[in-house]
Amino acid sequence: MQDAMKFVKDRDPDQKEFHQAVQEVLESVRPVLDRNPEYGQSRIIERVTEPERVIQFRVPWMDDSGQVQVNRGFRIEMNSAIGPYKGGLRFHPSVNLSILKFLAFEQVFKNALTTLPMGGGKGGSDFDPKGKSDNEVMRFCQSFMSELFRHIGPNTDVPAGDIGVGGREIGFLFGMYKKLRNEFTGVLTGKSIAWGGSLIRPEATGYGCVYFASEMLATRNDDLTGKVCLVSGSGNVAQYTVEKLLEMGAKPITLSDSSGYIYDEEGIDSDKLAFIMKLKNIKRGRISEYVDQYPGAVYTPVDKSLDHNPLWNHKADCAFPSATENEVNHKDATNLINNGIKLIAEGANMPSTPDAISHYLDSKILYGPGKAANAGGVAVSGLEMSQNSMRLNWPKEEVDNRLKEIMKSIHTACIGAAETYGQPGNYVAGANIAGFLKVVNAMQDQGLV
Ligand code: NDP
Repeated sequence: MQDAMKFVKDRDPDQKEFHQAVQEVLESVRPVLDRNPEYGQSRIIERVTEPERVIQFRVPWMDDSGQVQVNRGFRIEMNSAIGPYKGGLRFHPSVNLSILKFLAFEQVFKNALTTLPMGGGKGGSDFDPKGKSDNEVMRFCQSFMSELFRHIGPNTDVPAGDIGVGGREIGFLFGMYKKLRNEFTGVLTGKSIAWGGSLIRPEATGYGCVYFASEMLATRNDDLTGKVCLVSGSGNVAQYTVEKLLEMGAKPITLSDSSGYIYDEEGIDSDKLAFIMKLKNIKRGRISEYVDQYPGAVYTPVDKSLDHNPLWNHKADCAFPSATENEVNHKDATNLINNGIKLIAEGANMPSTPDAISHYLDSKILYGPGKAANAGGVAVSGLEMSQNSMRLNWPKEEVDNRLKEIMKSIHTACIGAAETYGQPGNYVAGANIAGFLKVVNAMQDQGLV
């Protein structure tokens, strides 16, 4: 296993986030490799950590002042052993190969956990939609798709949204794909319901994360009623996490963006959530504006000189990191645990650093890693693909019930795999082992390709 990790690091020494994601999976699957020497013989680790294909391309576009801008576009087609590549597109200035490879690698095992036939991929650009006009975003999306369209398709690779890619961007991307291919197919998910989208897709990651949290609490005869909850982010995942928490009788008290966070001791109720949705999705404003509307709340700007994020230092029962990777460090984990946190369910991908995760596991709190807890988004994307293939739309209740069942079965798979491999209650081991086995067994069946 050490050899495999060295192989990965030596090949791409500067891809820190990718190494972090691989290391976590390798540590979990060590007992699987010990019991099944055939995986070592067929160098399965070296194969599963190497993307099947990496596409990088130039994205030139013109801004509103007539200046030419040049961004980078990427698509990582990581693994297609169990279905077409599937995974989001991220538009954010931090995007690079390391971030996208970590996300694509995570996506492979997450997709396997959903029980749907989807391989794993991820893509995006270092383009920042923040502060851009709708016309600029449209021109960028059209230029991005004028290259990406060659590499994707409903049976090949089906991208979706992620940070910075919501309904507006998916619309522009789909429009350009349709024009270039001259066909109307289910090539992207997260589409508007009027032209091929699925009900519940926008809600799915947040709702699914809360369903997963409920399942975890149920193992300790507990539920979300009355639970005080910390939520980070204020985008798609955070908003629908708050919505479902409110429906289940919990009390969310924080939200954030990359500039700072708000703390509302009285709780973020449904009227306040409606204000946030309008602020973030329509006005494209900042979370700091919440305290102008609700002066009882407190806004704290990001302070990079601190060794912790004060959002995670409020007394609460549950935490839902839903912004970005590595947003909870060891000090934050210590603060959460000292304040009596019972559960952490990750809406974001890899939001906790490795030493924060070790701390959660040592303290025996309930910890649901993103790979399992946020799989609801891609699960409903899979359901959107099925509806597109059948050219029909399922009602909201049907999609929501399927989502609930999928989250329940992911929870059961995690618990089962963790027990089988001697780590009961460890959802990290459970998620990694269950996802890994499904993918690598399919790879073994398909030969050396
Ligand atoms: P959005 O773009 O809708 O929202 C992202 C939120 O996180 C915003 O509030 C943003 O603030 C904040 N954020 C982004 N980058 C940073 C940063 N570097 N530091 C602090 N805050 C930051 O994205 P989503 O809600 O879709 O995605 C959030 C997380 O969930 C990501 O990790 C994503 O990979 C993961 N995820 C998303 C899924 C989905 O279906 N959308 C599915 C599964 C996982 P600001 O506005 O200031 O940038």
